[in-house]
Amino acid sequence: MHIHEYQAKEIFRQFNIQTPESILINNTLESVHACEKLGGNLWVVKAQVHAGGRGKGGGVILCKTKEAVELACDKLLGTNLVTPQTDSKGLPIEKLLIESGQNIEQELYLGLLVDRQTQKITILASTEGGMDIEKVASETPDKIIKFGVDPLGDLDSNDCAYIARELGISGNLLEQFTNTLLGLYEIFTTKDVSLIEINPLIITDEEKILALDGKIDFDDNAIYRQEDILSMRDTSQEEEKEILASEHQLNYISLDGTIGCMVNGAGLAMATMDLIEHHGGSPANFLDVGGGTTADRVAKAFELIQTEPNVRGVLVNIFGGIVRCDLIAEGIIQAIERVGLVLPIVVRLEGTNAPKGLEILNESNFSIHTEADLTKAALKIVELSK
Ligand code: GDP
Ligand code: MN
Repeated sequence: MHIHEYQAKEIFRQFNIQTPESILINNTLESVHACEKLGGNLWVVKAQVHAGGRGKGGGVILCKTKEAVELACDKLLGTNLVTPQTDSKGLPIEKLLIESGQNIEQELYLGLLVDRQTQKITILASTEGGMDIEKVASETPDKIIKFGVDPLGDLDSNDCAYIARELGISGNLLEQFTNTLLGLYEIFTTKDVSLIEINPLIITDEEKILALDGKIDFDDNAIYRQEDILSMRDTSQEEEKEILASEHQLNYISLDGTIGCMVNGAGLAMATMDLIEHHGGSPANFLDVGGGTTADRVAKAFELIQTEPNVRGVLVNIFGGIVRCDLIAEGIIQAIERVGLVLPIVVRLEGTNAPKGLEILNESNFSIHTEADLTKAALKIVELSK
């Protein structure tokens, strides 16, 4: 689950990470009051959307007067923000963060994630903050400091001091840096975080270390036990289809191809998409219907896929491990009876009772193409959806 920058900063403050002062607003009228309350003579108007790269997309506006703040609010509110990290439609701007402008001496990057290779919570730090960190990582990897936290221990102030030294931070900045990093680690380990990032972490002309931006992603599988986080969910920032899918425990991601995919198991779903691409097609979605698939879920999945405007055909690929293929076949038929069949469909069944499942489909009144072989199934659907 993603949250907004203003929500990330609320969490930061609870964990002793310093941020610039800011006020969240919903309409332009509130902006004058916000500026007066913040004081100073530089304000930053920041669009709250679930995507980075807002600066590049025009969603972060520095203002020297209250009138400029008002203009910026009028310009942004109610529009969609397109950034290098969104699709061409962008994301709706419903809230703005008005922040006290800072005089920046230096921009750093600081983030934590789980490195699957080393199986450790890994700290990434760089002196090249404020930029696209993926670009820094690919073009100048030596500018990124990686530090794996000992899974049997904890992050301690010696570790922080080591990372600070690598970043060239010393003197009275060291304590501020240590507090920031320990705070991030505490949030990461207590809130079921999958990624936490401050880009940029700034050093101001007054020698203050502040989180100028904040991004926190949470592990969806653990979100049930993070009620305070779940209450921060903003569905206006999510794809409608993906919300519907999550209500039915389906893992669904819209893509821009033409072949709808319905697969059980994320790995098999990825392999299926690869195979479609390999044979000249392109998947319209990623969909994992899960292990204990029911007829009802299959029907919902069909509905979702058929409402994608660009879909020209559907490939169903089910491996019967725990589930039996004959039950899946019956589920597919029930689903088609319920939602109708308007597109060519190829079904590949493999595993427990596969022959029986294929027989059920072949004997049905619908024109369902069956295949036991995955490559042949992929070739068939690519051909049918041309
Ligand atoms: P992002 O583009 O979505 O990552 O949004 P950020 O919150 O990181 O803001 C983008 C950029 O705007 C930052 O990297 C800064 O360079 C600039 N910026 C944001 N706030 C301030 C500020 O208070 N003062 C100055 N001088 N620049 C700012
Ligand atoms: Mn940023």
